Order: sequence, then C-alpha cells, then structure tokens
Amino acid sequence: MPDAAAHLPFFYGSISRAEAEEYLKLAGMADGLFLLRQCLRSLGGYVLSLVHDLRFHHYPIERQLNGTYAIAGGKAHCGPAELCEFYSRDADGLCCTLRKPCNRPSGLEPQAGVFDSLRETMVRDYVRQTWKLEGEALEQAIISQAPQVEKLIATTAHERMPWYHNAISRDEAERMLFSGSQPDGKFLLRPRKEQGTYALSLIYGKTVYHYLITQDKAGKYCIPEGTKFDTLWQLVEYLKLKADGLIYCLKESCPNASVPTGTAAPTLPAHPSMPRRIDTLNSDGYTPEPGEAGEKSRILPMDTSVYESPYSDPEELKDKKLFLKRENLMMDEVELGSGNFGCVRKGVYKMRKKQIDVAIKVLKSGNEKAEKEEMMKEAQIMHQLDNPYIVRIIGVCRAEALMLVMEMALGGPLHKFLSSKKEEIPVSNVVELMHQVSMGMKYLEEKNFVHRDLAARNVLLVNQHYAKISDFGLSKALGADDSYYTARSAGKWPLKWYAPECINFRKFSSRSDVWSYGITMWEAFTYGQKPYKKMKGPEVISFVEQGKRLERPTDCPPEMYTLMNDCWIYKWEDRPDFSMVETRIRTYYYSIASKADLATSPVQGAEAACA
Ligand code: AMP
Repeated sequence: MPDAAAHLPFFYGSISRAEAEEYLKLAGMADGLFLLRQCLRSLGGYVLSLVHDLRFHHYPIERQLNGTYAIAGGKAHCGPAELCEFYSRDADGLCCTLRKPCNRPSGLEPQAGVFDSLRETMVRDYVRQTWKLEGEALEQAIISQAPQVEKLIATTAHERMPWYHNAISRDEAERMLFSGSQPDGKFLLRPRKEQGTYALSLIYGKTVYHYLITQDKAGKYCIPEGTKFDTLWQLVEYLKLKADGLIYCLKESCPNASVPTGTAAPTLPAHPSMPRRIDTLNSDGYTPEPGEAGEKSRILPMDTSVYESPYSDPEELKDKKLFLKRENLMMDEVELGSGNFGCVRKGVYKMRKKQIDVAIKVLKSGNEKAEKEEMMKEAQIMHQLDNPYIVRIIGVCRAEALMLVMEMALGGPLHKFLSSKKEEIPVSNVVELMHQVSMGMKYLEEKNFVHRDLAARNVLLVNQHYAKISDFGLSKALGADDSYYTARSAGKWPLKWYAPECINFRKFSSRSDVWSYGITMWEAFTYGQKPYKKMKGPEVISFVEQGKRLERPTDCPPEMYTLMNDCWIYKWEDRPDFSMVETRIRTYYYSIASKADLATSPVQGAEAACA
C-alpha cells in the first residue's frame, strides 16, 4: 500500500532519528529546515524533524481514529502534506514554522519500513491460503482488496504466530519458557483474563520477566509508558529490533506447538466470511456496510462465485466450448433487463460438477441475420476475455432463439444502483468500484481490445463492493500492430461518452476508452446523473470543442475530479493510459480505504478536517 506521504520530496520513509539529523546537517541547519519520516511504531504515523537555533526537534505525527493526522495537541489535518503545509504558515506550538524542505538527494527513494515487506508477504499469503488463488487471479485480488485484507490481518494475525499462546497461565508460560534451551530473549505472548490485555513473557539471565500489554481507547497496544502500536505483531516485531524499556530485546519465539513455526510466512487465520463461494447478494442486492452488523462478514469479490471463471477448475475446462447444449440450460421467466436486441433473462447452467446462476441475453425472434451476426461477434470478443472485473461469457446457445449466456451480476447497472442507494453508499465505496472498473479496462488495454461503449449503464454490480464491465457489443480486437480502430462509418453512437477523435475521425483506441472512463467516473460520483443534462449530441460536441468540461460533482473528491479531467484531455496522445489511470485511482483508493477502516464517515471526516 503506497504511503500517504510517498509523493512528498522531503519524505524519507523509514529512517532513524540519527539518520534524519545527518540529512539535516548536510543540508545546512538553517532555521525552519525540515523533513518527514515514517514512524516505526504506528501504522501510518510520521515524525517531523525540524531545525531551530542549530538544534533538532522531532515531532511525532499520529494518525487518529478518524483517519486524520495531528501533532499532539495540534490541529487535525486530512493528510501529511496538508499538515506540513499548515505548519509552514503557522508554527502553532512548534519551535518555528516549516521554512525549507530538506528534500531527498536525487535518486534516493523513501526507505521501505520494517513492516512494509512483512505486510506485503502477509497479504499475499493470506489471499493465497484463504481463496486458493494463484497467478493473475492472485495478483488482481491483492491489488483490488489489499486495504480490506490488511485490516483482517491486522486484527487477527497474531493468533497464528508461533509466539502466541492462547489461554495459558503465568505458571504455564514460565514452564514453557524454561523447557528446552533458555537463551536470553526467548519470549511468548499470551492473552490475560482481563479482556483486551495481554502479557509478554521474556527470559533474561534465567529469569522470566512478565510485561503487561494494554490497549488504549483508540485500540492501540502498548506496554504502559511504552511505544504504541496498531497491532500486536507490530509490537513484537518492533521489540525484536529495540528493547524499548524491556530488560532485553525479543529474540527467539517460544513456539506454540499448535502453530507452524516460521513467522515469515505464517499460516494466517481464515477470513471470517467463510465458507467461501457464498452467493453474491442478499435479497435487496447489497451487502451490509462496514460498521453495520455484518462488517466482519463483508463479502469480498474473491468470496463470490464469479471472481474466477467457472472454467478455472480443470475438470470443468474439459467441457469448455463456445456452443452450449440446450439441455444444460434452464431459463427462468424473470427478466433482468432489456435492450434493442431483446431481453436478458435469469437462468441456471448445468456444468460437470456444479450448477451456476447465469444471465441469458435472448435475441428477439424474427431478428435479422445482421443482428445474429452482431451477437455472435460480441460472443467471440467475450470468449477471449477472462478477468474478475469483466462479465464473462459462459457460451452461446442456438435453440428457440440465439442466446448469449453470461455470468450473473445481480446488482444491475452502476448508475441505477447508485441513484437508488445514494444515502447508504459513501464516496469511498464509489472510488472502490471505479478502481475495479479501471482494473478491468487495464486488462482490456493490455489485451489490445477497445470497448467503445464504456458507460455506467454497462458496468454491472455483483454486489455493493464488486463491479464488472459488460456489453461488448461495440468492442473490437485491435491488430497486433494497431493502436486504434477506424470505424467505416458513424453509427448509432453514445456521443456523450465519446472522445473528440472518435467523433471527428472515427478513430477508437484505449485512450478513447479512457475518455469514456472519465464520463463513467462522473456518472458514478454524481450517483447516477446523466452527463451534459439535456444537451443534444451536436451541442455536446461544440461544448467539448470549446474546451469546456463537465463540472465537479458535489461529493467528488478533488483528486478524482483531477483524474476525470485528465481523461478528458483533448489530444488522445496526451491522455493517461489505463495503466496510469489504475495506478492513480488505486493510490487514492488505498489512502482513503485505510481511513475508511477507522472512521465512521470516512470521506466527510477527512474533508471536514481539511476545511
Ligand atoms: P445490455 O444490453 O447488455 O446492456 O443488457 C441490458 C440489461 O440486462 C442490463 O442493463 C442489465 O440490467 C441486464 N443484464 C445484462 N447482462 C447481465 C448480467 N450478466 N447479469 C445480470 N444482468 C444483466
């Protein structure tokens, strides 16, 4: 997860106090010279190191419960950058204002923190073990769900660490520490009877020392008067590096026989929403919000039956063919939606080992040959795609009508979902969904496909936290050496979603899909409004040609509006590609997702703090 300060040139990452002072000395020790570094002890905390009167001052910056940042006793700010900007204007209790950033020497990247690589290993192992994923499916799960998985790990990871002994008494702890060799620093951690407290038991000089660990009001762990930590495993890792008031550093864990040894790749606890592969929606089409009764069981995309292709099972793959047998397909009367071609019905498809829910696009009877061909083209395109954020085709069935059988996305189109649930869906949730759309589009870009009809109506929801791109009716596979497709003639086109080069030169590329992605973002952040209000196609064209763009939606974070505007850069070659779009929205999503984990009303909270 990128650090919220990663982009600041005066941020050094995880360096020690002595190293910080060395950099400040080298930079001349002017009054107000400052740098920012990561705080070892709390996830997301910082230290501001500042020079005044040729002396060093170090101010810890805490990340607070609501996701804001503050120096003890000072005002809260929505991010480390905003905090530094504030103190450059007003000393507000510091020894002086921040006057001159001590920037990193060129080529020097911020130092990764002690927990950064450990956390990455844990996230990877957790996702691999819990959802049995490998390869691309594993990578995509990590990218899209890292904040949620980190949160699960942070609260429960210690339970499966070799040094954690559940429910043993003080006497038993001593017995265990004295059994076998007794090197200085051998330790274990155990919960105490008193709820929320723990004991750290440590051998030094053949004596066992017991330290009480308590949790403060904010849920941080510490040995009284000692350094505070977000999680128990971080506390242990830190005390391995530094005694910090203990009689000795933690060295060797006194292993719990029921936990496999080796902390580098611990066997992590199972995700609380097990059993896996639960079906996707409750009756009203969405899962409970974090903070509601069901927070612990929030369904992640990997929990659903449509994260991986049904053909990811090698047994099922044996039967994979574009054309499906009619006898394996059961069609319901329930209509999920309709379009010019006909309607989309609910159904069930019988595979070798399981039955899956499907959506069936049924071509109206009496339709022309041309329409059948179009549906077959759509099927051929979808047949080549396999990504968790794209609606997969199961196959085509030729029977009473031509039918395109797809994975089911019961939540319906994004714009309708958002407009009907505006009050319940925080902006962070919209960012999460749009990040998933960017992942699906990045995949298309890599495969050299252009979608040509990306819009909120064509983003379907599996549930409130899982979106998939659909409707490949206009899509094209580009030739290996081509970066765009030229349409022979203009057709019935969604002009409001189209980039200028599509309209003026009929030229379609991933960069013109990026333009459409910007419009889709606007639809999402307005909670389903229609872009360009009642303007007609030609009016929209001249509006855009005059350099005008859609306004910032009321609830839209400035970072997201900047990204939208970059998607609407007039010249396609100057627009970001999906790889860039995905990185930018991911960075923003991670930064607010970590706040959303803590705050009740994440984005509003952060905005209020900025004001
Ligand atoms: P389309 O013409 O492909 O945009 O489909 C028309 C409508 O049918 C959509 O707006 C959805 O409400 C519904 N629909 C299409 N595909 C699916 C699917 N895979 N799962 C659930 N509903 C779908």
